[in-house]
Amino acid sequence: MDLAMPSLPQRIQRLNDLAHNLWWSWHPEAEALFGAIDRTLWAITQHNPVKLLCEVKPEQLAALAHDPTFLRRYDAVMMTFDAELSTRDTWLSQSVPSLVNVPVAYFSAEFGIHNSLPIYGGGLGILAGDHCKEASDLGLSLVGVGFMYPQGYFHQRLSADGRQEAVYEYLARAEAPLFPALTPAGQRSLVAVPVGDRQIYVTVWHVRVGRASLYLMDTDVEENAPWDRELSARLYGGDQEARILQEIVLGIGGVRVLRALGITPKVWHLNEGHAAFVTIERLCEFVAAGMPLADAITEVRRTTVFTTHTPVPAGHDAFPFHLVEKYLHPYWHQLGIDRERFLAFGAHRESWGEVFHMTVLALQLTGHCNGVSKIHGEVSRRMWHHLWPERPLDQVPISSITNGVHTPTWLDPDLHRLYDRYLGPDWQKQHDNPAIWLKVHDIPDQELWWARLRLKYQLMHFIRERARRLWRAEHRDPVQVLASGALLDPEALTIGFARRFATYKRATLLLQNLARLQTILQDRWKPVQVVFAGKAHPADEPGKHLIHQVYTLAKEYGLGGQIVFVEDYDIRVAKFLVRGVDVWLNNPIPPLEASGTSGQKAALNGVPNLSISDGWWWEGYNGGNGWTIGPTDPLGEIENRDVHDADLLYSLLETEIVPLFYQRDSDGVPRGWMHVVKSSIASIAPLFSARRMVKEYIERFYVLAADGKNEELRMKN
Ligand SMILES: *Cc1c(COP(=O)(O)O)cnc(C)c1O
Repeated sequence: MDLAMPSLPQRIQRLNDLAHNLWWSWHPEAEALFGAIDRTLWAITQHNPVKLLCEVKPEQLAALAHDPTFLRRYDAVMMTFDAELSTRDTWLSQSVPSLVNVPVAYFSAEFGIHNSLPIYGGGLGILAGDHCKEASDLGLSLVGVGFMYPQGYFHQRLSADGRQEAVYEYLARAEAPLFPALTPAGQRSLVAVPVGDRQIYVTVWHVRVGRASLYLMDTDVEENAPWDRELSARLYGGDQEARILQEIVLGIGGVRVLRALGITPKVWHLNEGHAAFVTIERLCEFVAAGMPLADAITEVRRTTVFTTHTPVPAGHDAFPFHLVEKYLHPYWHQLGIDRERFLAFGAHRESWGEVFHMTVLALQLTGHCNGVSKIHGEVSRRMWHHLWPERPLDQVPISSITNGVHTPTWLDPDLHRLYDRYLGPDWQKQHDNPAIWLKVHDIPDQELWWARLRLKYQLMHFIRERARRLWRAEHRDPVQVLASGALLDPEALTIGFARRFATYKRATLLLQNLARLQTILQDRWKPVQVVFAGKAHPADEPGKHLIHQVYTLAKEYGLGGQIVFVEDYDIRVAKFLVRGVDVWLNNPIPPLEASGTSGQKAALNGVPNLSISDGWWWEGYNGGNGWTIGPTDPLGEIENRDVHDADLLYSLLETEIVPLFYQRDSDGVPRGWMHVVKSSIASIAPLFSARRMVKEYIERFYVLAADGKNEELRMKN
């Protein structure tokens, strides 16, 4: 499985280096350089530079190697690339020098960095991807550990009657930015992971993400039985048995992989309970080295960070004891304890009986735990209070670090240039500084409005092109073309709703009262339209039913064309949507939204939020930077919640949002609207950036963990 790099003319040889470091994906000038090689091929390869370089005609490359315009751009990009990756003058070296060159391991079942490496499903993965990129920007030596899923998550198609179909595409490893990961002796790594009475072997791929590294495990090796080879084929693909095996490979295999590669992290960050078996393998290591188990537990807790991501019970993995027994018995033997003692690490009582719960395991064996927004921290402390019954609620050791988004990834490049002009040339170096962003108010309304309109036109062009392509490729029914957004009006107030279709997110709340909605949408002078997008997990029947409901309306004459559904929500679609709509809608049942990040991406691009008070919005809303639906306390009880919230949502649209959007001055600019837009950018961009977030992880957790500081000892021994 060795991967040869495409051979390129000497003068532009280093395009290979650039294509094999996902750094390019958050540097628009680097991305544009690949586009300039062959625009059509760039589109056909779906913006995969490795594939592009494999497929581009040698004559084309030879010509570019003599094209002064291309060479000028090439040299400029390569200079920035080299300068950014080699500089020692980083935020980390100035602020936290003790962590310079200290590896921080970050375990995650998914990483969403760019569509060309489709190893993510949704928000969790994108957060992990943003974390890696920001770590690189700050100068942290982050080492991500995850899976190479050659079939990734599914692509979504809707049948003519609105049923979600899952399509899997195969990513050839030679067309991905992968290097075989080598041991210090220069060998291809092959690591054995004991599972029950057998071993699963993994090989490892190295992906460069700026100065950060990802190590992706791959079970598709000859040494494995056919069913084990399939284990890492897809993200969240299998049944419970496949899932526990995947998690054993992720946690236990992940630690072994780092050892085999000669990497010695000082901090171990578990992104979500999927990776909680890391703690077990590390206990085994300490015990094998002669340490008493109690001390090993202390050591593991001191050095491990755990982030929990959802209050929704189904979002936490838990396994029946018999599966734990079947596959993990080698580990309790190594720890010198019995089955009962081992199961107690993760034991959790559900209404139907006891299970081994990955979040409980992580909470018990890690010393630095957090939820992903202030309100989610509160909710998590309540949820897990029973693990620390002797403590008052506010002393439950789960704090919070609110999620943020990676600014260079999610900000539109043209808006970036506009901000360059008004925020001062150095704004991006300190884009988590709220003072810098106050200058957004200096941008002339008209200029920002035109920039926003352009983004809207781009979104609609993108949607129409997709509709056209699907129409041709799949001989679609014209009604499907309509439902996928071909007739959207770029001048109409456009509401975006795009997220996973899980029932608690209430995608159909806006459809509660169709007559009232129709009146709002079809006002002749003030038309409104709604763009939906999102996947439902293939096993989530209620979620798929919601998609069906939305799609059915989108096809109807009454609302079709004004309610549309864009298929196959992924990073690329998200980029168009969060930049191109006018308002970003979010209406989950509180307090079930842990954080949410798509609204942060929208705000950064001048798209105000219209949201239930929950997740990040509970702390993000300041009274003038968007709209909150209903009461601000996510923990309050409300009867008949859906009807109540829908009513408030319609009222906000009718009395505030629609009138404000259409209130134009003589040059057609909505002044009042632009004030909300600017307040939204200025208040949200700095605080809800991945920069603020990663700095918090570093300053509050990683520094302590790297020092082995004993924050507190908590497990009830
Ligand atoms: C940002 C993003 C998410 C997460 O957004 P939420 O607000 O948490 O729903 C999910 N999927 C994609 C493709 C995204 O870009």
